[in-house]
Amino acid sequence: MDLSIPLYLENFIDGKLIPPRSGNYMENIDPATGSLFNYVPNSNESDIETAVEAAKNAFIQWSRTSAEDRFLIINRIAALIDGNAHELALAETKDNGKPLWLSKKVDIPRASANFRFFATGIMHFAAESHMMEDKAINYTLRQPIGIVGCISPWNLPLYLFTWKIAPALAAGNCVIAKPSEITPVSAYLLSKICIEAGLPNGVLNIVHGKGEEAGEAIIRHPAIKAISFTGSTRAGQRIASVAAPMFKKLSLELGGKNPNIIFGDCNWDKMMRTTIQSSFSNQGQICLCGSRIIIEETVYDQFKKEFIERVKLLRVGDPLSEDSKQGAIVSLQHFEKISRAIETAKKEGGTILCGGKAVNPGGRCGKGFFIEPTVIEGLGPACETNTEEIFGPVVTLQKFKTREEAIDLANASNYGLSATIWTQDISIANKLAMELNAGILWVNCWLLRDLRTPFGGFKNSGVGREGGWEALRFFTDAKNVCIEI
Ligand code: NAD
Repeated sequence: MDLSIPLYLENFIDGKLIPPRSGNYMENIDPATGSLFNYVPNSNESDIETAVEAAKNAFIQWSRTSAEDRFLIINRIAALIDGNAHELALAETKDNGKPLWLSKKVDIPRASANFRFFATGIMHFAAESHMMEDKAINYTLRQPIGIVGCISPWNLPLYLFTWKIAPALAAGNCVIAKPSEITPVSAYLLSKICIEAGLPNGVLNIVHGKGEEAGEAIIRHPAIKAISFTGSTRAGQRIASVAAPMFKKLSLELGGKNPNIIFGDCNWDKMMRTTIQSSFSNQGQICLCGSRIIIEETVYDQFKKEFIERVKLLRVGDPLSEDSKQGAIVSLQHFEKISRAIETAKKEGGTILCGGKAVNPGGRCGKGFFIEPTVIEGLGPACETNTEEIFGPVVTLQKFKTREEAIDLANASNYGLSATIWTQDISIANKLAMELNAGILWVNCWLLRDLRTPFGGFKNSGVGREGGWEALRFFTDAKNVCIEI
């Protein structure tokens, strides 16, 4: 199939690729080169209105389509993603700046896995029944909500976009989806894949544009009854303030400032290798990255020495090169935000142990946005560097003496998305898992994902859970039917 990328991307509404009604576009920049990649529609309320009308018509049939037929169509989308994985990975890398090997290994396979997982899931989805002895039987009807909105960020573009769309479609809803305006291309290509897969017109509508305009039009639209959002805590607050008074169902997956707690008895080599990944994968632009490394005092110096040696080996360079361990930061704006955060760390009295500067890989990437992986020490839990999400290749080191101190340091954050624990003592690991205020706990591993498990955060990291039955429950309305016997 033709997955060529035009200079002007288009919206996908009612099964067709069409320009935005306003005719307005925004520049989409390749962050590795700093040059124009293409133009993305700057859609507005009228585009959302057109998409909603299409979705309303499509819902009549789609909600009545059998689970088995939905399974077949959604599985075809998964197969087409797999069949076109190379083109999709290349597009994702040009759009986002992440290394091509990472797009190939993680982003695109996970996008097809999302569709396959929920296509299969809907075939096994069942509702509860409750007996009242010999009086009555209650059963729960789980029905699709209708039209739902899915809004996703730029860090794992197709991966997170499909993590929402797949369960929404599988549950029988019609979807108005908006990818990040910073990384729109893989969502554009998904439109073409959906046409090829035979997804009925209007079932999925992909509208491109800015958060404040197209995004808010989705949030405000009265016919869109549920919103699944992944992005920053600030945007999540704004979305909740608009959607909550309209009593919309809300799932908010927001920012993180995750602790990575290291005890001296851990499997040292595995911890070291994994901590490099959990600190700097995707240039540290994963909501689950462990940006606060909290180390037992007895091994602090050894950790610091070995960690810095390994960080210095991480080659920052052209994302298309197999040798690049680190690619580009997603945009100039984000590059500047990370650079400012490093300056703040210095002003707060932090010591930059390695990194801290921009990198110029030269060649075609001479004007790209690259930053060295950066390690900082000497800052306490209350400073801005340890409380604000940086969302870049920047980690801090802190030390603890006792288990209680480790817990206090880890919990000293307004975020609560994930935490990682490194120890061979399973009893300590279990105790920490009980005490840490985070929705996702990893013991002696990181980013090991079982798609059936509940995914989401505490505190400012969001509300609601994605994954497995949680997602299918979110995207359905429950009705209790009570029958007297
Ligand atoms: P962002 O909040 O700026 O944007 C995310 C999406 O929301 C984009 O599509 C954007 O256009 C849209 N948007 C922004 N404001 C909106 C509004 N008022 N109404 C409707 N839509 C709006 O986030 P980002 O910079 O793209 O992504 C980085 C953030 O996402 C980080 O904070 C990161 O931690 C978070 N994130 C969280 C998870 C998770 O699962 N918890 C996963 C990935 C990223």
